[in-house]
Amino acid sequence: MQIVILGSGSPIPAPDRAGPSTLVRTSVGDLLFDAGRGVLLRAAAAFSGAVAFKAVFLTHLHSDHITDLNDIITTRWAMSFVPTPLTVYGPVGTAALVAKTEAMLEQDIGYRLAHHENLSWNPNTEVIEVTDGVVFEEGDVRITVAPSDHAPVHPTVAYRIDDGGRSVVIAGDTIPCAGLDTLATGADALVHTVIRRDQIEALGIPRLIDVLDYHSTAPQAGNTAERAGVGTLVLTHMVPPVQPGGEQEWIDQARGEFAGEIVLAEDLTTIELPPLDQ
Ligand SMILES: [Zn+2]
Repeated sequence: MQIVILGSGSPIPAPDRAGPSTLVRTSVGDLLFDAGRGVLLRAAAAFSGAVAFKAVFLTHLHSDHITDLNDIITTRWAMSFVPTPLTVYGPVGTAALVAKTEAMLEQDIGYRLAHHENLSWNPNTEVIEVTDGVVFEEGDVRITVAPSDHAPVHPTVAYRIDDGGRSVVIAGDTIPCAGLDTLATGADALVHTVIRRDQIEALGIPRLIDVLDYHSTAPQAGNTAERAGVGTLVLTHMVPPVQPGGEQEWIDQARGEFAGEIVLAEDLTTIELPPLDQ
């Protein structure tokens, strides 16, 4: 299994960080988790893309995690030579989101159908809304869902991917919670969005201070990883943006709680988890 952080950014635009998105390459194909700003640019850099995704999984419906879902739907449809349905897993509400996204694309779909003689079908997106438990099983790959806690945003979910004895958990945006603890127990890697309480409080911007109550700080992510016995903690979606030269501070804050390996993600940071039998 290979984990590629496609986008390590947050809602705040940054020149070198795409929006939240993680590619998990498994023995049954490329699985995409969240679809933030610029996801297909980074997927191209990782030699993947809209047509290659076996399925897309959404942790929640905040704009920064879904803004380029429309690009995936359009690109997969317009670049396929035969009908290639897309499967999107997500919390309750995902079906409505996808229906509205396809409605938004109605004019473009009409233009392309009228123009391309060999494109005669509409985008076809199958939505599977998930809450808890095993939601995907194919070959050696099993994906398990548990509710996360990003209140007042509700519902939100985290995912655990198991493949060939290795495992990664995609936490999404959450404060520490029982659902994430359960999924993360014994995982090889935990991809966790994080914020800095000290920096946000120092900035003193009310709309930024609001995010403190529904995100984990770096120490909280470290604490979750430690309690769960995780191997590698991957910090991503840093708010406020990481200042040049400030990278080690983020790692040190998580290090106070977690003894394992800590990676502060950049776009295209890649973590290799070879099968255990090799
Ligand atoms: Zn969020």
